[in-house]
Amino acid sequence: MKKINIAIDGPSGAGKSSISKAVAEELGFIHVDTGAMYRAIGLYALQNDCTAPEKITEKIHEIIIELKFINGMQRVLLCGEDVTDYIRSPEVSMMASNVSAVPAVRAYLLDLQKKIALENNIIMDGRDIGSVVLPNADLKIFLTASPEERASRRYLELNEKPDCPSYEEILKDIRQRDKNDMNREIAPLCQAEDAILIDSSNMGFHEVVEHIQALIQEKLN
Ligand code: C5P
Repeated sequence: MKKINIAIDGPSGAGKSSISKAVAEELGFIHVDTGAMYRAIGLYALQNDCTAPEKITEKIHEIIIELKFINGMQRVLLCGEDVTDYIRSPEVSMMASNVSAVPAVRAYLLDLQKKIALENNIIMDGRDIGSVVLPNADLKIFLTASPEERASRRYLELNEKPDCPSYEEILKDIRQRDKNDMNREIAPLCQAEDAILIDSSNMGFHEVVEHIQALIQEKLN
């Protein structure tokens, strides 16, 4: 039976993952966070001293990324080890952004992502899902917010933790990742022609979730 595929793209910190997760839970779909896959490869590059594009390309055949879903929650495995809890540091974020520009990395993950989408009803979030990974998705959404709004949400999230970066550092990091994502040669961050744009700068979390749920219901009816 044909599976339902929903693509959600947008820049770093737009809330794609938490919003996709909430919507997927409601629908009983699997939520696939493709950023976590790039992050796991970023972690591999840092741990194995192969951060240069040619080095990571050489090593790509040794890298095995798998996704597991426990109670609907995605866990990412790197060469058999669950690294889900080690891929959220600023260092890994920046390395994920760097390795995501490497053609061999994108080709490997593209195959994997397409395969997961063929086998499951999913909400997949990333940067190139509507434009490259799932061009025939049932619904495509491009979720964005201003860089300042994204930085202030991230700051509020991290603010309780020790070593929290300053708002200015977070904003700088977001701008740098936006620039990397929009300007890389392969599969840059862009809104697919048939994607619906949602600017959440002035919207609350639940408002966005409900809006997306309504769009999905319209499609499914
Ligand atoms: O979404 P998240 O911030 O976790 O993604 C980490 C990095 O992976 C992003 O900065 C982006 O460069 C890259 N990425 C990508 N394509 C995707 C998902 C993420 O290039 N589909």
